Amino acid sequence: MNDRPKLSHASTDGFPMQGDRLTVGGIPLDRLAARVGQTPFYAYDRALLSQRVTELRTHLPPSISLHYAMKANPMPAVVDHMARIVDGIDVASGRELRVALDAGMDPDEISFAGPGKQAGELSQAIAAGVLINVESPTELATIARLAHESGRTARIAIRVNPDFELKSSGMRMGGGPKQFGIDAESLAELLPTIVHPLVFEGFHIFSGSQNLKAESIIDAQTKALDLAATLATHAPGPVRMLNIGGGFGIPYFPGEGRFDLAAVGAHLHALVERARTLLPEAELVVELGRYLVGEAGVYVSRVVDRKVSRGQVFLVTDGGLHHHLSASGNFGQVIRKNYPVAIGTRGEHGEREIASVVGPLCTPLDLLADRMELARADIGDLVVVFQSGAYGLTASPGHFLSHPPAVEVLV
Ligand SMILES: *Cc1c(COP(=O)(O)O)cnc(C)c1O
Repeated sequence: MNDRPKLSHASTDGFPMQGDRLTVGGIPLDRLAARVGQTPFYAYDRALLSQRVTELRTHLPPSISLHYAMKANPMPAVVDHMARIVDGIDVASGRELRVALDAGMDPDEISFAGPGKQAGELSQAIAAGVLINVESPTELATIARLAHESGRTARIAIRVNPDFELKSSGMRMGGGPKQFGIDAESLAELLPTIVHPLVFEGFHIFSGSQNLKAESIIDAQTKALDLAATLATHAPGPVRMLNIGGGFGIPYFPGEGRFDLAAVGAHLHALVERARTLLPEAELVVELGRYLVGEAGVYVSRVVDRKVSRGQVFLVTDGGLHHHLSASGNFGQVIRKNYPVAIGTRGEHGEREIASVVGPLCTPLDLLADRMELARADIGDLVVVFQSGAYGLTASPGHFLSHPPAVEVLV
């Protein structure tokens, strides 16, 4: 019998209870832990990854290309899986580029963004034939030189720092002075200088991340198309690709609603129509990281001590901020809030209590749950942090205090 956890959070829906065990991909958590061979670990559910892509495809116009921004979760098995179900992969380093190519992604469908790309990384990208999203005039000159020296052409898109901001975004990455992209107002001068061996393909306008407001995303997408249409008049060739960014958010905290995918999808149908007139040759790309993988993963650690300090219960686990910085509240959050957390080896009907879940690091920042209502847990129980499929292990200071690394599995 499956009884749903009543954790008042949609994130747990993909991980139903089986008796008093939470399941991942149908496998009870204690059995999965034994199969992994250690705690702590991250487990990602491939069915949930596929389900999310299917959901996106039902709402987005068929002509929109869906790209995976793999920095959200670069585990090679995850990237392999995603490579088969999305239209392209966005990489942010030479090493990510190798993983995307290993996954079998067609180089035509790989793009490479990020400030400070090194000459070695740019040479890799040119040799692989992937699209380089150019972040500065200096980078543009370096790409031209490297392409010339190697006797190859280089596919480029200009990453534009737009003259608008993405409203109510968790992390703003465009508008105002930014280290990302080239200021829109300087492009009239720069665009005509793009000549062979550079091959101009289009624009990349990414303005922010973790946005739960559909209206803000719709607004940013509309402005991105208008800006691209204006810039196109200065471009050295037709715009064949317009990456309008992503930024779709997922709910982490109590009170946060779901992103209104249907509203954004409906707007994109209209946008695609407008783009047909404004930029008739352009492929429209949406690039998503967190929204594709964030809800498909859990982080699992084991209770190694249970102590009470002045009336407050502390569950000390073998995992913590060194594996999962964002759940500890230290990855860009202004006010610390609890991620959804549950005891994965206790049913919903037993005793409950208010407890804090902490890690083994000698810092009060190492906190996975601050005075949360949880099933009463003991040494040996498994603690689950939901919404952990994006910006988890590789976004954490794994070497801090020299504890062993976490393992990752794709179930
Ligand atoms: C990080 C990043 C993304 C992914 O952002 P999410 O919030 O994870 O969807 C997309 N595009 C670019 C250029 C990025 O740097």
